[in-house]
Amino acid sequence: MKQHYRVAVIGGGIVGTSILYHLARRGWTDIALLERAELTAGSTWHAAAGFHALNDDPNIAALQSYTIKLYQQIEAESGQSVGMHMPGGYSLASTPERWQWLKAECAIYQTLGIGARLATAEEIVAACPIVDPAGLLGGLFDPHEGAVDPHGTTHAFALAARKRGADVVLRNRVLALAQLPGGEWRIETEQGALTAEHVVNAAGLWARRVGRMVGLDLPLTPMQHHYLVTEDLPELLARPDEMPCVTDLEGYTYLQQERKGVLLGVYERNPRHWQVEGAEWDYGMDLLPEEIDRISPELAIGFQRFPSLLEAGIRKWVNGAFTFTPDGNPLVGPVPGRRNFWSACGCMSGFSQGGAIGKVLADWIVDGDPGADIFGMDVARYGAFASNDRYLRETTAQFYARRFVIAYPNEELPAGRPLKLTPSYDAQRAAGARFGVVWGMESPQFFAPGEADFVEQPSPRRSNAQRFIAAEVAATRAAAGLLDTGVYARYEVSGPGAQGWLDRLLASRLPAPGRVRLAPMLSPAGKLMGDLSVMRLDGDRYWLVGSYYLQEWHLRWFHDHLPPAGVRIDNLSESWLGFSLSGPRSREILARLTRADVGNAALPFLGAAAIDVGLTRAIVARVALTGELGYELTVPAAQQRALWEALIEAGRDFGLRPIGMRAQDSLRLEKGYGVWSLEFAQSYTAAMSGLDRYIDWDKGDFIGRAAALAERERGPAQRLVLLAVDSGDADVSGFEPVTAGDRRVGFVTSGAYGCHVRQSLALAYLDAAIITQPEPLTVTVLGEACPARLLAEPPYDPRGLRPRV
Ligand SMILES: Cc1cc2nc3c(=O)[nH]c(=O)nc-3n(C[C@H](O)[C@H](O)[C@H](O)COP(=O)(O)OP(=O)(O)OC[C@H]3O[C@@H](n4cnc5c(N)ncnc54)[C@H](O)[C@@H]3O)c2cc1C
Repeated sequence: MKQHYRVAVIGGGIVGTSILYHLARRGWTDIALLERAELTAGSTWHAAAGFHALNDDPNIAALQSYTIKLYQQIEAESGQSVGMHMPGGYSLASTPERWQWLKAECAIYQTLGIGARLATAEEIVAACPIVDPAGLLGGLFDPHEGAVDPHGTTHAFALAARKRGADVVLRNRVLALAQLPGGEWRIETEQGALTAEHVVNAAGLWARRVGRMVGLDLPLTPMQHHYLVTEDLPELLARPDEMPCVTDLEGYTYLQQERKGVLLGVYERNPRHWQVEGAEWDYGMDLLPEEIDRISPELAIGFQRFPSLLEAGIRKWVNGAFTFTPDGNPLVGPVPGRRNFWSACGCMSGFSQGGAIGKVLADWIVDGDPGADIFGMDVARYGAFASNDRYLRETTAQFYARRFVIAYPNEELPAGRPLKLTPSYDAQRAAGARFGVVWGMESPQFFAPGEADFVEQPSPRRSNAQRFIAAEVAATRAAAGLLDTGVYARYEVSGPGAQGWLDRLLASRLPAPGRVRLAPMLSPAGKLMGDLSVMRLDGDRYWLVGSYYLQEWHLRWFHDHLPPAGVRIDNLSESWLGFSLSGPRSREILARLTRADVGNAALPFLGAAAIDVGLTRAIVARVALTGELGYELTVPAAQQRALWEALIEAGRDFGLRPIGMRAQDSLRLEKGYGVWSLEFAQSYTAAMSGLDRYIDWDKGDFIGRAAALAERERGPAQRLVLLAVDSGDADVSGFEPVTAGDRRVGFVTSGAYGCHVRQSLALAYLDAAIITQPEPLTVTVLGEACPARLLAEPPYDPRGLRPRV
């Protein structure tokens, strides 16, 4: 071990070794992996080590495909066998709902270029004779499913890294970490002290403890997981080839061939956590005692589906622990507020994701950019609230127990709720609100006024709540709608350097005092980093408004680009709240509550002012995502209830109705407006998304200008468009393929039923050629091909007159 390295990776599991390898591959060879015991000594050694490409988050699915492709490469490079088997795998459907869900998923995987296909029950039983066909309707075949040897794979990464010059230091626990005044990290280890420019926490079962060494409380916690391995089965002894893997989604089990027997793993509905903080420092390569009674309900279903297992001897039971985060995805990337301290932990699927985590993290360290949209696994997608013991316990248990359960787009799950409430929560509840949750904040989805017993049914189609959503849309188009904006983030930027800094950070021109502007924010590579709106309150005081759940992510970006002095950023997201009031009667409603002139001249479209509204002093911006005359009113949090009372009271005579996010979605789709994470995300650029129309090319340099200019000159390969889709009683949900004839020409980003225009609508990225020379299109909705038309202009108020009245 040397006294100094450029990067020190803590942890020699599948994730840490992959990071070491990828850093070395990028030419950073002054690097070391510090391992407490032996390689694989955490969760890695006893993993079933199965892998697959399928994931509900398409960006993560793409990264999983990368991991799988890497295995043969590291085997060749290291000379160490990874023991890879890839017979493919079937996910079984034994209910009509599941069968339809798999058909829909299959279409989405095709968009992603994952060669999944549907399979009949007969095919499955022929390929996997141990499957009982009772009730089986069919399945989804993923050709990229299989397993590796966890020991061989981890050693292959480490060996390949060492061949390129990296050090691997075993039996050397990291004891303490401290950042030196110059920014380097001092690392105390059992074998002495060293320094490193960057430290990576890949400590798996101990990652929470390693996080604490730098004052972090990471939102991850270990859970127990069982699998059993059988003796040889006659059906498998008889065949020369390997049986495909099988996941019985209704049965909560997965199965893969292991020698001539099988390995059966269980995601039980009654999961059990392990030690909240993770393993003790001296925890060996031990197994946990089996809890067969606890998992017996799922085992019983498993034995029904795979009856020959009843006769088989059990060679071994494994009950081990590995870490979970609230959404089951890992925590990767630079930790906000800890310069050059990187997270690569919380990984529950190391053999599908470990390779990709290594690549992303190495690219991020070397280039300052992960090279892909990895928000779904970014450590900055969570805030401090997610590390609360009970929140973690409830959300991780919910994730584990629902690992194979169908997730419907209209379903709101109960774990960790209610946590954050706006002051008008009770009043909105009394008005019939049904809530969803964004980053812990309760947010009305729709209102069922006077129907206390109404329960929305989870469904992939338009649900039984549609009549409420339609009524909210109708009220907003004809009179006014009132939407809680608790799920908006707000940052105040002030100080003598504010203008110069924002001018460089944002691609748009900065607004004049009392004005608002939409402001795309770009990465140096020209990728979108935000779709903020910027409001200038007065001289050097600005507000940036964005998505609530992006707070840590945006603040990390702001702080990474902050000048040493002269700019102050205050996060007002929890301390200021408000409502969006929109619709043709909204000005009259507002006028009832204020002496200020809210006429078109005094408060024009994209104007902003601080005025008295009822008892509150509100910041009022004339903007709305509904495509109507509208105002966003923001007040100190404690006054939000008073604002609600005032607006509801003033709006009564004008037909004002409280509305939820689902109505807002319908309204925005009728205008073709995109939102972050769906239409706007790190994978897309300003020119692709149409946000380039807000760029000020003449203002001088800003982050991403060169890349955006180059793209403007060559033209983007795909563009965001609006489609009308004839899809019966279902709407798209995202990533469905768009085809012209038998060619795939794009994919959907989001959609909704336009209740006012009476048309199912979808926003989609389409190849540029099909936009200039349109052809008849189809969109695959719930697995069925539906005719679609490119809309040259939004179906509602195409000239954009209504917001300007
Ligand atoms: C029963 C079971 C079945 C599983 N099946 C699968 C499967 O089929 N497919 C799949 O993809 N995943 C599976 N997993 C999950 C998989 O094991 C994990 O995703 C993966 O092992 C996580 O790897 P890691 O490198 O993040 O952490 P770990 O393997 O826990 O490695 C962390 C390493 O860090 C070291 N370390 C910790 N603290 C320090 C310190 N202070 N100083 C130095 N070193 C330190 C530890 O000794 C350890 O070696 C399974 C897990 C279990 C338990």
